[in-house]
Amino acid sequence: MNYHQYYPVDVVNGPGTRCTLFVAGCEHQCPGCYNKNTWRTNSGQLFTQEMAEHIVADLQDSRIKRQGLSLSGGDPLHPHNISVILKLVKQVTAECPEKDIWLWTGYLLSELSEAQQEVVSYINVLVDGKFIQNLYDPGLLWRGSRNQIIHRLR
Ligand code: SF4
Repeated sequence: MNYHQYYPVDVVNGPGTRCTLFVAGCEHQCPGCYNKNTWRTNSGQLFTQEMAEHIVADLQDSRIKRQGLSLSGGDPLHPHNISVILKLVKQVTAECPEKDIWLWTGYLLSELSEAQQEVVSYINVLVDGKFIQNLYDPGLLWRGSRNQIIHRLR
């Protein structure tokens, strides 16, 4: 898996202060997408285990308390990303059990493959659905268009 951006302190993508990772790879091709440069799975840079350790250390850093981890992109549930994302959410769940995990995907919760569902079983909140330009609403919190749903899973 490749990624584009990692923000160790982020107050925009999800509730509270968070760590946010924008991964590479998205097959949804939504018209009006703001992150077209993330569509190719080989764009950005390689996400290493060292980077995963770095994220866990940031989540555990008591000097700046984070509420959790946000995973966006691109699409963290792109088939190319599943194995690395699964490893990351398992590690965060095990080593930072008090932190929440939010994940943004263009796939619908009702249509996820078994592998995608396994990732989702480790996260707290899934924001699903493609970005649909004529349903765009700048007043929405944590989503771009009205079709997208915030699923609070646990
Ligand atoms: S799902 Fe997100 S990143 Fe992918 S094309 Fe749609 S808006 Fe862009």
